[in-house]
Amino acid sequence: MPTTTPPPPHFVLFPFMSQGHSIPLLHLSHILSNRHISVTVITTSANHSAVKSTLKNDSISVIDISFPDNSVTAPPGVEITDKLPCMSSFIDFVDSTKQLQPQFELAVRNLPPVSCIISDGFLFWTQDSADKLGIPRLVFNGMNIFSMTMCNIMEQFKPHAAVGSDNEPFPVPDFPRIKLTANDFGPPFNELEPKGPEFEFMVRLQKTAARSRGLVVNSFYELEPEFNDYWNRNYAPKAWLVGPFCVAIPQTTPKETAEKPKWIQWLDVKLAAHEPVLYVCFGSQAEASVEQLVEVAVGLERSNVSFVWVVKPKELRLIGEGFEARVEGRGKVVAEWVDQMDILKHEAVCGFMSHCGWNSVLESICAGVGILAMPLIAEQHLNARMVVEEVGMGLRLWPRDKVARGVVGAEEVAEVAVELMRGEGGRRVRKRAEEVREGAYGAMKEGGSSSRTLDVLIDHVCGFEG
Ligand code: UDP
Repeated sequence: MPTTTPPPPHFVLFPFMSQGHSIPLLHLSHILSNRHISVTVITTSANHSAVKSTLKNDSISVIDISFPDNSVTAPPGVEITDKLPCMSSFIDFVDSTKQLQPQFELAVRNLPPVSCIISDGFLFWTQDSADKLGIPRLVFNGMNIFSMTMCNIMEQFKPHAAVGSDNEPFPVPDFPRIKLTANDFGPPFNELEPKGPEFEFMVRLQKTAARSRGLVVNSFYELEPEFNDYWNRNYAPKAWLVGPFCVAIPQTTPKETAEKPKWIQWLDVKLAAHEPVLYVCFGSQAEASVEQLVEVAVGLERSNVSFVWVVKPKELRLIGEGFEARVEGRGKVVAEWVDQMDILKHEAVCGFMSHCGWNSVLESICAGVGILAMPLIAEQHLNARMVVEEVGMGLRLWPRDKVARGVVGAEEVAEVAVELMRGEGGRRVRKRAEEVREGAYGAMKEGGSSSRTLDVLIDHVCGFEG
C-alpha cells in the first residue's frame, strides 16, 4: 500500500482588535509557522495592512472579514480599540464583534481542514463557532498566570472582606508572603459583591474560556512556576506557558543611518556619548490623566536623566508648552507609533518607564532592560507588583502615601528615575533583568520549557498524543 504523508496541522489564529492582544498572537503565528504548521490569521478589513506589516511573512495567510458597519460603538473604519473615541465603549465594542460570527464560520468552513482555532478571550463567541465546527479552540487573553491567579483567588476567597479599606494590605490566601490591596485590582475583582455589566462581561468570558481546550499563555514557566502549578491544580482550563512570543519577532537587516527612524538616530548619538537613556511609554491603550502626564513631564525635566518619551499624538499638547524646548538635547518626545522592541534593544536604553502592559513587560524582559513601573489600568497594577516584588527586575513609582491608585508626583518620578538610571537599585534591577532575559531565551530555544510545552500542546489539540 502506498503511504501518504498527512498534511501539516493547520491553525487558525483570530486576534482581538487591540494592539496589546493582536501583536503577541501575530508573533505566535511565526512560532507555529517555524514548526511547519500552516497558519491562517483572520482579521477585519481595516486591520489587514497592519496585520500584514507586523507579520512580515508571506507564508502566513491573512483573510479578512468585514466589521459590522452598523456598530454604534465605533465610528466607521474604526476597528481597533485604541482608536475608539473613549474607553467606556470598550465592552460594547467587544459585544459588537459577535456580529462577525456568521462570516467567521463561513471563512473557516472554506479553508483547508483546520486542526485548531486560537482566538482571543474577548472573542468569546468563537467558542460556540468552534463547537459547531467541531474544531478544538485554545484561548489567548494576553495576561500572565500570576495576575490571572490573583484575580481568581480574589473571586474565590474574597480576602478583601477582612480589611477596613481598599488601601489596607491583606495576605493573599495560599500565598501569605504576598500582600495586596483591593486597589491592586480593577472592577469587578475589587468588589465584594460584584454585579453589573463589568461583572456579567467577565463571567461570560470565564464561562466560554472554561469550555475551551486550554489557555495559551504568553509567559514562561521559570518566570512564575508556583503560579502556573497552582493554576493548573486549582483552576480551569489548563494553562500552557509557551512564551515569550516576542522572541519570534522577525529580524530585520541593519539599516543605513539615513533609513533609521529619527529616534533611533538620536539613540545612536546618545550611545556614542555614553549617555544612558530611559525609555518612557505607556502602551497603546491606557490614557493617563492630564495631571499625571504633567507630573511625569515635570519629573523627567527635574531628573536630569536622558530620555525618549513616546506619547500618543493627542497627549503632546497636554504635557505643556515649551517642554520639548526645555529638555532639548537631553530628552526626546516622539508622537508617532514606534517599533518598541527596536528601542528597547538599543544599547543606549538602560531603563523603561512603563505602564506594565504585559507585552511591554515581556519585551523589556527580552531586551534585559529594568522597569520603572507606573501601572494605569486593567491588570497592570498586578503586573507591576509581579515585576517589582516577585521578579525583582523593576522599581515602583508610587502615588502619594504608597497607595496603589492615584497620581504619581513629579518628585517621585525624578527620584526613582535617577535611582534606576544611576543608583544601586538600578544596578540590582539591571542584573536581575539580564538573568530573566537569559531565562526567557532559554525557555524558547529547542528543549526549553516553553518549546517543550508547545510540542505537547500541539500534540494535545491535534490528537497525536500517545
Ligand atoms: N507598541 C509599539 N509602539 C508604540 C506603542 C506600543 O510597538 O508606539 C506595542 C508594544 O511594543 C506592545 C504593544 O504595543 O507590543 C502594547 O501592549 P502592552 O500589553 O504593553 O500594552 P497595551 O497597549 O495593551 O496597554
